[in-house]
Amino acid sequence: MTTEPSVFERIIAREIPADIVFENDRVIAIKDIAPQAPVHLLVIPKTAEYANAGELAAADPQLLAEIVGIANRLAGEHANGQFRLVFNTGADAGQTVFHVHAHVLAGGTLEEGSLGRL
Ligand code: 5GP
Repeated sequence: MTTEPSVFERIIAREIPADIVFENDRVIAIKDIAPQAPVHLLVIPKTAEYANAGELAAADPQLLAEIVGIANRLAGEHANGQFRLVFNTGADAGQTVFHVHAHVLAGGTLEEGSLGRL
């Protein structure tokens, strides 16, 4: 079965534009097009093999750890280093792109609600 490339595959292939904040051979990070926090980044493995964090954790824990490390680093570069890391898993949880990605939400506080909407 062939499936349409996800929006993230198309961004990785430079078929559609994105504001890229980090890239190496395995991972890309972009600004979310519809930010839910003052800083809202997406950290995305380049491989389209894994739909969600559970699949990635089972198959390639090192790549999952790399994503967490990049999220941590970007939160320090784009905010004060404190952040929420969200992996929506399944449509009922709000997942819309079935190519695993981490949301990095920063630049606000949970108390004021600016990090609380995802
Ligand atoms: P999910 O809902 O699957 O957890 O997250 C998908 C995220 O991708 C959403 O926050 C959505 O705003 C973001 N998104 C969808 N299409 C695009 C796009 O074309 N460019 C960028 N930068 N982000 C996108």
